[in-house]
Amino acid sequence: MFTKTIKHFVGRLFSAPPSGPRRLGRDSHGIDRRNVSRHAIKVCEVLQQHGYAAYIVGGAVRDLIAGLPPKDFDVATSATPEQIRPLFRRARIIGRRFQLVHVVFGQEIIETSTFRAPTSDTQETDEHGRILRDNLFGTHEQDAARRDFTLNALYYDPMTEEVIDFHHGVADLKNRVVRIIGDAETRYREDPVRMLRAVRFETKLSGTIAPSSREPIKRMAELIEYIPASRLFDEMLKLLTCGHAMDCLRHLREVGLHKGMLPLIDAIFAQPGGEAFVELALARTDARIRAGKTVSPSFLFGSLLWKLVDQRWREGTSRGESRIQALMNAADSVMEEQTRKLAIQRRYQSDMREIWFMQPRFERATAKTVWRMLDQPRFRASVDFLQLRAEAREVDSVLAQWWMDLANADDATRADMIETYQQQNRGASNGTRRRRHRGRRPKTDAAVPDAGGA
Ligand code: ATP
Ligand code: MG
Repeated sequence: MFTKTIKHFVGRLFSAPPSGPRRLGRDSHGIDRRNVSRHAIKVCEVLQQHGYAAYIVGGAVRDLIAGLPPKDFDVATSATPEQIRPLFRRARIIGRRFQLVHVVFGQEIIETSTFRAPTSDTQETDEHGRILRDNLFGTHEQDAARRDFTLNALYYDPMTEEVIDFHHGVADLKNRVVRIIGDAETRYREDPVRMLRAVRFETKLSGTIAPSSREPIKRMAELIEYIPASRLFDEMLKLLTCGHAMDCLRHLREVGLHKGMLPLIDAIFAQPGGEAFVELALARTDARIRAGKTVSPSFLFGSLLWKLVDQRWREGTSRGESRIQALMNAADSVMEEQTRKLAIQRRYQSDMREIWFMQPRFERATAKTVWRMLDQPRFRASVDFLQLRAEAREVDSVLAQWWMDLANADDATRADMIETYQQQNRGASNGTRRRRHRGRRPKTDAAVPDAGGA
């Protein structure tokens, strides 16, 4: 009798009733409500009080079950944007075709969207393919079906503490299997970004992509070409800042997806020292992310592309261009090539240039120019970049440390450091204290140009 009850209970937990999703209790999914954003709970509570269905959904549920800290909290509801907005003091409707609501609580925004139907179900077309009607909103079940992977289609009800699971997502998540919902080929064709997402989640969860979801990727990798450049940039950034950047790139290469991402990534890896430099840069990025610190996209892309810039810079100087001119030309040509595929936003581009152009100045600054460099907005990032180059044995680590100490010092200490630096330089003959960039002309103090125009 007792066993029968248990069997019945377990059966209820793990097998779907003929109609409808599994409802998993706390013991099955293990989410601790204390780790859930109270603002997201509030949004669900208010919506439910007004008679709507409302759940926390997507990445947050996945990460909570996997024991990772969620990046942000999204809510899915049966209420339409017009119905959601008046229920909250600070809420705004955003988006055009598919509108959603941002409910704002101080620093935190809870993105709240109405259940949505899969794209294939939303458009009614006539015999010429013309769209007659576009039914964007859908049922809860349709909303689950249009999501990408089973482990991303989980809905957490913070009131009952149940997880609603239409596609065996909890089981897949516990086995660390990334499995696309529906037919893999169709879903990748609909949106090739899903292939990149599969690799990101596999890496982030230290799991695997299910064989049937993995198999078509190699064949379909070239569809990455058709992703708009700005979306590709966003996805690339997510990949590189997921805390396992190098592993992500490795996995991307395994399935042949890396080519469309940064067109020259193979070239970067193929260059002498290229792979080592990228590895160092990404290891630093991963360490920062895992320590909960931020990473600036300009620093990140600046380091990914540096070896190419550096190589062309050398070529330019050996053709007789001035150091600064050669560096500017190198930066222009690399940037031009890369942004054809990957839309690196203009503000990031100009920050990347600033970081690059500051590099030669570290090696030949005078007391006067040091103060000017300190005032540059990208000074700190440029010093970090110099540290990276020192780690890669491209510049002297003592020099890099001096600049790092300077960056960290208060103004009085800075003045002392610069004074000492000036005296030492006066004493030293012809810049022997400062290490030259490999293979470049030595400069004496008298001849040091202020590279400030760069
Ligand atoms: P993270 O925020 O950690 O990158 P996420 O899964 O939350 O991961 P988002 O881009 O924030 O990713 O998307 C939220 C949810 O929207 C996903 O969990 C998934 O359910 C759905 N989703 C996102 N992108 C797609 C897509 N390209 N196709 C189908 N569903 C998607
Ligand atoms: Mg998310």
